[in-house]
Amino acid sequence: MENLKSVAYFCMEYGIESDVRLYAGGLGILAGDYMKEACDQDYPVIGIGILWKQGYGEQLIDPKTGEPYDAYKNRVYPFLEDTGVTVTVPIRRRDVKIKVWQYKAHGVHNLYLLDTDVDGNDGEARWITGQLYGWFGEERVAQEMVLGIGGVRAIRALGLNPAVYHFNEGHALFAGLELIREKMDRGMRFREAWEETRKEVVFTTHTPVPEGNETHPIDRLLYMGANLNLTKRQLKAIGGEPFNMTAAALRLSRISNAVSDLHRITAQKMWKKVKGRSEIIGITNGIHIPTWVDRKMLELAEAYNGSKASGEELWNRHMHNKDALIAFIRERTGVKLDRDVLLVGFARRAAPYKRSGLLLSDMEFLEPLLDERKLQIVFSGKAHPLDDTGKRIITEITAKAREYPDSIVFLENYDMEIGRMLTRGADIWLNNPRRPQEASGTSGMKAAMNGVLNVSVLDGWWPEACIHGVNGWQFGDGFQSDNPAKADRHDLKALKTCLLEEVLPTYYEKRSKWVEMMAASIKTTREAFSMKRVMDEYYKRMYNAVSEG
Ligand SMILES: *Cc1c(COP(=O)(O)O)cnc(C)c1O
Repeated sequence: MENLKSVAYFCMEYGIESDVRLYAGGLGILAGDYMKEACDQDYPVIGIGILWKQGYGEQLIDPKTGEPYDAYKNRVYPFLEDTGVTVTVPIRRRDVKIKVWQYKAHGVHNLYLLDTDVDGNDGEARWITGQLYGWFGEERVAQEMVLGIGGVRAIRALGLNPAVYHFNEGHALFAGLELIREKMDRGMRFREAWEETRKEVVFTTHTPVPEGNETHPIDRLLYMGANLNLTKRQLKAIGGEPFNMTAAALRLSRISNAVSDLHRITAQKMWKKVKGRSEIIGITNGIHIPTWVDRKMLELAEAYNGSKASGEELWNRHMHNKDALIAFIRERTGVKLDRDVLLVGFARRAAPYKRSGLLLSDMEFLEPLLDERKLQIVFSGKAHPLDDTGKRIITEITAKAREYPDSIVFLENYDMEIGRMLTRGADIWLNNPRRPQEASGTSGMKAAMNGVLNVSVLDGWWPEACIHGVNGWQFGDGFQSDNPAKADRHDLKALKTCLLEEVLPTYYEKRSKWVEMMAASIKTTREAFSMKRVMDEYYKRMYNAVSEG
């Protein structure tokens, strides 16, 4: 390959292997898939992340109340290699030691993980890398200082000198301040150091919900030492007051990307007022196919030619995956779902905009379908440990699962393994966020490539992929409203119509059309939404643009 720039990729979380709990959700899954693809294709990429002692909480359901509760346990990963490197970052006026580990397993060998749980640190410092997204305020700033400032120092101590720094989300922003500090230490003035740093940095934004974009009072950053000798005025020039991590990353980067085309439009609107920000382009997310997709399904979809025999082979393989899911659910919950009934899959973080309970909000519609054994639903998802609204959403679903024990199931402790089972074994993949709040979504891509048909509103990646009635279905026609109740009513009505008039009749009465759609789903998505395509676009449109900038 032609002269590829070396890249250091920064992310708070990495989803590489189900039981390696260094991830919370979609952001981490993307980062893990990115690292795997980079290793598969030999891209000159290193990853910087944090070795979370406890990671993201396990979330179980109280069998009495049906409410979710969180559990944490310390983790040890024997496959980590000690690099022998330790760096120091002054945090809250004392030196914190950070040990650097190298991840060497599961097809990933170039990921460096930072760890403050080392001898010589005080008890509080040892817990900085304790829980992923565990705290807010000062604790979050400390975590982000480890990732950003510690990350750049680790890179130097390892003797590396990447041409490009890629911040996957604003959490890594302090790496930009460290890059400025290095240059100022060599004698550059602030403005020039900022300009030079911008040329090295690219940024990916993921959050179209304003509240999801983190801010801190500037005084907090000064008190914590995150400013690295920059003055209040200089910080304000970068991130505003309060200091907005996303706005700062936009001003500290040469170019940025949103994670789907629709998200690009949303993000451009949202950050219009940020003066001096980088251009936001759209690079739609993708998935690492070997991790998520059944190879056999890919082969059979490729071989599918419309003949009865090739259709049957594809269908039988799907039923094999569906049986595996049904067995998995039985083992976990004791519930035995029916292989001949349409199986709806839905797994999401329990954030209100994702509307996990939308279909359950109309039992008058749903109950007869469940009673007549026309459909069955399996849910999974976690709420953020500090999010009571999210926890209520889960409690409502578990209550319904108890009311309809043969046809509604909730799988506790959503993780990569559950994600993989569901996106292979369901018949349809339901996705009903409030448009345009789903930046991309990748679970639908996993489903699509496994021949699990998407039934989704036109949000995130789906407008780019959907050929209605050919490779899946859309509902809602892209309707948007500032009034959430109105949007919910509109989309629920559209979902019901889509199920009654299209999905159910096709499933039960036109099986050969269904199978044709499965093949189309796989064929139309496997390249366009692969991590390979994402990496190629990052290189063409971001990393190269930076080196020439
Ligand atoms: C794929 C995946 C995600 C991201 O999917 P979304 O469509 O963004 O919700 C989150 N968590 C797990 C465990 C996954 O496997």
